[in-house]
Amino acid sequence: MSIRPIYLDCHATTPVDERVVAAMLPYFTEHFGNPSSISHVYGWEAEAAVKQTREILAAAINATPEEIIFTSGATEANNLAIKGIAEAYFQKGQHIITVATEHSAVIDPCKYLKSLGFEITILPVQKDGLIDLTELEKAFRPETILVSVMAANNEIGVLQPLAEIGEMCRDRNIIFHTDAAQAIAKIPLDVQTMKIDLMSLTAHKVYGPKGIGALYVRRRNPRVQLAPQQHGGGHERGMRSGTLYTPQIVGFGKAVEIALAEQTIENQRLTELRQSLWLQLFQLEGIHLNGHPTQRLAGNLNISIEGVDGAALLLGLQPVMAVSSGSACSSANTSPSHVLTALGHSPQLAYASVRFGIGRFNTQQEIDIVAKHAIATIQSLRKQTTLV
Ligand SMILES: *Cc1c(COP(=O)(O)O)cnc(C)c1O
Repeated sequence: MSIRPIYLDCHATTPVDERVVAAMLPYFTEHFGNPSSISHVYGWEAEAAVKQTREILAAAINATPEEIIFTSGATEANNLAIKGIAEAYFQKGQHIITVATEHSAVIDPCKYLKSLGFEITILPVQKDGLIDLTELEKAFRPETILVSVMAANNEIGVLQPLAEIGEMCRDRNIIFHTDAAQAIAKIPLDVQTMKIDLMSLTAHKVYGPKGIGALYVRRRNPRVQLAPQQHGGGHERGMRSGTLYTPQIVGFGKAVEIALAEQTIENQRLTELRQSLWLQLFQLEGIHLNGHPTQRLAGNLNISIEGVDGAALLLGLQPVMAVSSGSACSSANTSPSHVLTALGHSPQLAYASVRFGIGRFNTQQEIDIVAKHAIATIQSLRKQTTLV
């Protein structure tokens, strides 16, 4: 195979860490039991492994192991949280609040509920991508049952003020859900101090395997009711039936354990790489940083570039780097990113945007190659436009 582009798309997914793969392997073959089998050692081994991951995840967010419900990923966790709350609390009220920059796995379940008669308020964001808490204050109604605001944005990396939102929701007895797919083990998360009632997690953004995630569901102060969205054998305390996928669960636990242990030092390293990339690119004129300058994920840099065509830009970058553009992140969709337009960008400027997702295996040398090539590409595209 020819030389592959440098991978800088860590918000889409990450490679599985070798240490995670090693931890998973015995659970495909030797320890293959069904964790629900209670009558023999095969089941006990698998159950012990599942229990260990439950404990790791719970400790990571200051929850208890019983509050962790395994799912196939954050998409399913978001669906379970949002539809499960709507179904369990519709007699109390039918109003839900979310934000314009949420992932489609939050927006689309809300749209679906709207089609069933629920009312959805979609909060705007400020120029820096953060929500305005006074807007949230104004959006509350007596019939509001749920607020869903993500922890870290998958496009612009912005970290929303979870503790403040949690406080406001708790004061009004409203359930607070956060999609923490990009945040788990990367920033400090605490469901007690942040007053979070439901939290969606996934493994594959944090060097774990794809196809495994979890939903934290608060059990006390207050106890959150959730209507299951998948019925069957009554696994996961009845909230999500289906045989647990032990190898993936083991990998999820190992991935979070590693990321937590390395969090501080890794965030420092990623911040330096991001800053280096930004300082090199910023030598050009007409480059805008998208999202709050400091209240963001360490590995995220998202820029919009004036005077270039988005499609031509991506084409020019592609041989050297694997990055995402400012079009909607789902490949089935080619509209401009709803996150960037929510910041106030025109469709043209939104298209002419690049998301760099720097991760564990990127080096300074790679950042220098990427910066050099991006600068050359932008300069050459701008020259072409002025010639025409
Ligand atoms: C990736 C992602 C999802 C979807 O997670 P899956 O585990 O791939 O289903 C949801 N929300 C956010 C913010 C994400 O980044």
